[in-house]
Amino acid sequence: MEKKFIYADNAASTRISRSVLDAMMPYLTDNFGNASAVHSAGRKARRAVETAREKTALYLGCDPSEIFFTGGGTESDNWAIRGVFSALRKTGKNHIITTAVEHHAVLHTCEALKKEGAEITYIPVNSDGVINPEDVRKAITDRTALVSVMYANNETGVIQPVYETGRICAEKGVLFHTDAVQAVPYVQINVRELNADLLSMSGHKFHGPSGSGVLYIKKGTPVSQLMSGGAQESGMRPGTENTAAIAGLGQAVSDLWPDMNERIEYITSLRNRLEKGLLQTEGVQINGSGADRLPGHSSVSVKNADGEKLLLMMDLKGICASAGSACTSGNSEPSHVLKAMNVSNELIKGSLRFSVDENNTEDDIDYIVETFSDIIKKSGRM
Ligand SMILES: *Cc1c(COP(=O)(O)O)cnc(C)c1O
Repeated sequence: MEKKFIYADNAASTRISRSVLDAMMPYLTDNFGNASAVHSAGRKARRAVETAREKTALYLGCDPSEIFFTGGGTESDNWAIRGVFSALRKTGKNHIITTAVEHHAVLHTCEALKKEGAEITYIPVNSDGVINPEDVRKAITDRTALVSVMYANNETGVIQPVYETGRICAEKGVLFHTDAVQAVPYVQINVRELNADLLSMSGHKFHGPSGSGVLYIKKGTPVSQLMSGGAQESGMRPGTENTAAIAGLGQAVSDLWPDMNERIEYITSLRNRLEKGLLQTEGVQINGSGADRLPGHSSVSVKNADGEKLLLMMDLKGICASAGSACTSGNSEPSHVLKAMNVSNELIKGSLRFSVDENNTEDDIDYIVETFSDIIKKSGRM
């Protein structure tokens, strides 16, 4: 029998789509010119980069000059936070407000900035993983440089009240960054309505290539560059453009529109089927299920189970899932996200994340449920 391969780890990375690959191929083969070169090969590459910029700007509802291509979500988050901190600290603003459940690209950046004199406030979440935007308002002082609140969480899919947070920041005259890496494939974003000054995206989370990202920077936002070098990206992000990756990201962005609602509906139905099935096993809980969530994420905790062991046994059966977030697997630090939601250490230890998408089928879901229940019955408990 052919070995099963069921991919349910789309929050960690997604499959490059055919249209994205087709959009990239010319720049990996014949059109290899440097986008800064004046000759015809360079001009072809330049056109690809600028087309991708226009598509991304159209998606976010901003001007193309406000789109900066980066090497991924981690770089975008670092740039937003370090860039604003470095630009504003000379004015006496050294305070950053973020949440307890951010991705490590945000949390570890904030931690690192403490050594440079930053003061960090971590807004707590309720047991469903949601912040109260009024806590952000209370935390803002005249030394606050930046508020960084993720659009949706990578472990649970829980959506934060980013519109309310953005409004509060605008009222208070404080810069607002949102890490929208997980949310991008499932929400229609308008950065003006969101009152976002900075927003991070990552190509490989929505069928684009790994190592491609975007930082939206609203015109006039004080933000320093991280690197020195050439004049690329308006002099703000030096280094020869990764034309193929940028072209691929642009294609992935335009592919989001046409069928977004049907896609969300389909993925939601798969996720509901999955959770209904998983909950048949005793001692299973779904984390964050009382909150608004992205359609494909499911954070599952199992009583008296070992999440890492479960994950390995699922993998032997051809199922790709994740223990908490991919960035924390391999080290047994309990998930900071579930901890912040007040999930007990024991349940955190028995946690798994499934993230399904439009490439999954109902048969995939039924196989996952069956395998999960079998494993736990036979040997999954500690
Ligand atoms: C994946 C992810 C990142 C990091 O993006 P990379 O492109 O993998 O560096 C940042 N934030 C969130 C919420 C993510 O899910």
